[in-house]
Amino acid sequence: MSKDTYNAYESAQKQFDSVAEKIGLDEATRELLRQPMREYHFSIPVKMDDGSVKVFRGYRIQHNDARGPAKGGIRFHPLETVDTIRALSMWMTWKCAVVDIPLGGGKGGIICDPHNLSDREQEQLCRGWVRQLARNIGPNQDVPAPDVMTNAKHMLWMLDEYEAIAGGRYPGFITGKPVGMGGSLGRTEATGFGVIFVLREALKKLNIDITKTTASFQGFGNVAQYAVKMYQQLGGKVLAISCWDNADKKAYTFKCENGLDVNDLLGITDAFGCINKDKAKELGYEILPGDAWIEQNVDILVPAALENQIRADNVHNISKNVKVLLEAANGPTTLDADKVIDERGIFVIPDFLANAGGVTCSYFEQVQCNMNYYWEKDEVMQKLDTKMTSAFKAVYDLSINKSLKMRDAAYVISINRVAQAVKSRGWV
Ligand code: NAD
Repeated sequence: MSKDTYNAYESAQKQFDSVAEKIGLDEATRELLRQPMREYHFSIPVKMDDGSVKVFRGYRIQHNDARGPAKGGIRFHPLETVDTIRALSMWMTWKCAVVDIPLGGGKGGIICDPHNLSDREQEQLCRGWVRQLARNIGPNQDVPAPDVMTNAKHMLWMLDEYEAIAGGRYPGFITGKPVGMGGSLGRTEATGFGVIFVLREALKKLNIDITKTTASFQGFGNVAQYAVKMYQQLGGKVLAISCWDNADKKAYTFKCENGLDVNDLLGITDAFGCINKDKAKELGYEILPGDAWIEQNVDILVPAALENQIRADNVHNISKNVKVLLEAANGPTTLDADKVIDERGIFVIPDFLANAGGVTCSYFEQVQCNMNYYWEKDEVMQKLDTKMTSAFKAVYDLSINKSLKMRDAAYVISINRVAQAVKSRGWV
């Protein structure tokens, strides 16, 4: 599938259909789970700094809430589509189910480019999004969180708007809030650290010593930055990282054959995860084209940017030495590329398992908000590690016992849990 014809929702549905067939899921449950239960599409007018009014499109999609309130991020992206949000909401349902937390799946977004919006304009967008949805989301219905190009600052504006409308304090309305304002210690690190917790477990099963491994990353935003930190802490060496340069409207790969230094790079990276290439050159980094991250002669490939990044047209560029594909991003691999990766015997840690640390910590954040008692960071990290490790082990054991691919094993666990919930509730 090419860059232009890719449709994340079709991919998510095909993945679901194939596993539903394998486990003999009944027709009604299939029909219910292969599409979102509810969708909200709306306009958000914003008075811009120059006095003009611009109208943005906003969305919230609730795929399934049988196991608990819907849960999922809000993405700000100029190329966001309804179908991408549908797919992401579906993957959220499977993600919450695979780590066995009592939440369903949802996702939202606004078609916009925050690179070109002032803080005031972004605040108006956040407040406008909440005003449109206040009756349909909330601590017991649907709990948003950050995603691509949104962060704690946006979450707090959204919380403030919600609380103004609801007339009270509802910190459990949204997660990914700043620490001290209802946020959980460790939430910023959680997705990236969780990615490496499952990698650590996978390498143990594969009898690979993590300290002898090398990796190449796509993306250097929230997820990748903390994944790189934890991977280096465990002794791994990162040879290359790519990121998007908004000024040049293209991606670059930053390479250092001896292993790059995450702290050096963080010092020259902006809030959107863009590494400054002039400063990187001064530090001795080699600057390569954006696609070069996938061709590196490493043990572990980590797509941590966006969906549709490993496709039929570039999957053959993956070096023969790659042993593990660690999907930190949502939906990075197309179905046809997935087949090639499988034939080559590369061990895949599928997206909705690999990056489930974020929502797991969001769940911890909600629990802490409900108790109005906040844990120490060590406690959060310990609980996160326990959840991620046991989810990985369950998926791995099923994949071995039933000779399933890791992705299919993860789907089997999740779909069975959600199917059980919709049946127990008497929905089907
Ligand atoms: P982010 O906005 O913080 O960072 C995205 C990074 O990807 C940036 O470094 C950007 O430069 C880079 N990028 C974008 N397009 C690129 C391209 N074409 N080539 C190379 N690099 C490119 O986003 P994030 O929060 O780190 O999310 C990354 C992925 O992880 C997304 O798929 C997201 O849905 C998923 N995810 C995020 C979380 C979370 O807690 N933030 C949780 C689960 C999954």
